[in-house]
Amino acid sequence: MSDLDPESLWGDVLHSARENLSPSSYRTWLADSSFEAFDDSRFVVRFPNEFVARWAKAHYGEVLEESLRSCSGRSDLSLVCVGDPARPKDRAPTRRKRSRNSNSYLHPSYTFDNFVAGSSNELAHAGALAVAQELGNSSYNPLFIYGGVGLGKTHLIQAVAHYVQQNQTAKTFKYLSSEQFTHQVVSAIRNGPASVTDFRSQYMKLDLLLMDDIQFLANKERTQVEFFHRFNELYQNGRQIVLTSDRPPNEIKPLEERLVSRFESGLVADIQPPEFEMRLAILELKVRDEGVYFPSDVLSFIASTIKSNVRQLEGAVHRLAATSRITGRDVNIEMARKVISDFLGSQARRLTPGSISSLVAEEFSISPTQLKGKGRKRDVLIPRQVAMFLIRDLTSISLSDIGSFFSGRDHSTVLNSIERIKQLCEEDSGLRRKVEEVRNRLTR
Ligand code: ADP
Ligand code: MG
Repeated sequence: MSDLDPESLWGDVLHSARENLSPSSYRTWLADSSFEAFDDSRFVVRFPNEFVARWAKAHYGEVLEESLRSCSGRSDLSLVCVGDPARPKDRAPTRRKRSRNSNSYLHPSYTFDNFVAGSSNELAHAGALAVAQELGNSSYNPLFIYGGVGLGKTHLIQAVAHYVQQNQTAKTFKYLSSEQFTHQVVSAIRNGPASVTDFRSQYMKLDLLLMDDIQFLANKERTQVEFFHRFNELYQNGRQIVLTSDRPPNEIKPLEERLVSRFESGLVADIQPPEFEMRLAILELKVRDEGVYFPSDVLSFIASTIKSNVRQLEGAVHRLAATSRITGRDVNIEMARKVISDFLGSQARRLTPGSISSLVAEEFSISPTQLKGKGRKRDVLIPRQVAMFLIRDLTSISLSDIGSFFSGRDHSTVLNSIERIKQLCEEDSGLRRKVEEVRNRLTR
């Protein structure tokens, strides 16, 4: 893979740390750190000794980890800091060898084999498979996959990467998130014209570009321009491009009109939340991967209780499998009820009228005070009604209590609001998506 290797990734992380720390702190704690190993999601960095490693982890761990995630586009990475009292500087050769072989940013199990296809993701799955199998000749260019959180976008786009890698159908390809792309553009510009030329020629060589979470290009004008040109070059030379996003092209805002129409010119495929049967199929697969046995009543219990997204289904399987391992007891329905209700309970604690309304306010870009207030204009009224709807849907709070929360409105107002939102959601897919987005964020 011609992607950034872990060593340069760590270099990028250090680069941004350097800009945010005093020169002496940087020199003392971070300057002598180096990439050590990378397995699955653990990114191991070596420091000159144990003391420095601990200090760096305690004081900069969070910031470094965050930057590691945004530079790599992988939100599951965790930073492990180790010290090395024994061996000084001569480890470089072995390290380098290992990192070349390791496939930096592909999750090993995000393959087509591990992906359950069904009615909610049929088109996206078929499109991704076609692109992988007919690389260079597919009629789906670009392939644009969109859908809510935790529904398998990253899995699918990485499956394409795994496929072309295994079958060696692409000489060069790149998988990265649009945040990582932005970061590359910024560093190239900062490092001067030669670096920009270098950056551009790297892209020109690609047979396949896979870019995850393209919605983060919104607002980033300079990066959009750069992306537009890289996109066109590849596209005109018949190279394949696959993009994912949490929303359709025309809802990524602000995004240059010419990009929107480029995105829409190929195949646009959405992924919906899975239905019961598909949730069951996904569960069976995840349980098999865990190497545990869940009886079928447990599987259907989980599939009918957890509906919002696949990541949450996986979480439930992990919890239950872990409980069974720790207690040494087989998984049964009582254990499942208990574990799943604790699992959901810890989420429910986040589900209060206050937390729900503030997320809704954020989603609609108004203040929580406006949301709760008396204003009757549509741009505050709709979000307020959405908040009422979600509170009712996600909690067991009564209509009149919801009314009191919103500056003493009565229960019939709340009821009408809820009905109105249900109806509007049927007519307006943009609104429906916003509501689902907030629901997802709350129930993740
Ligand atoms: P997204 O990028 O859309 O937020 P991910 O691709 O990260 O979601 O998926 C979240 C988790 O759910 C991953 O662990 C992925 O393997 C799993 N997953 C999602 N959809 C499916 C599916 N159809 N079959 C198997 N696993 C899935
Ligand atoms: Mg993703």
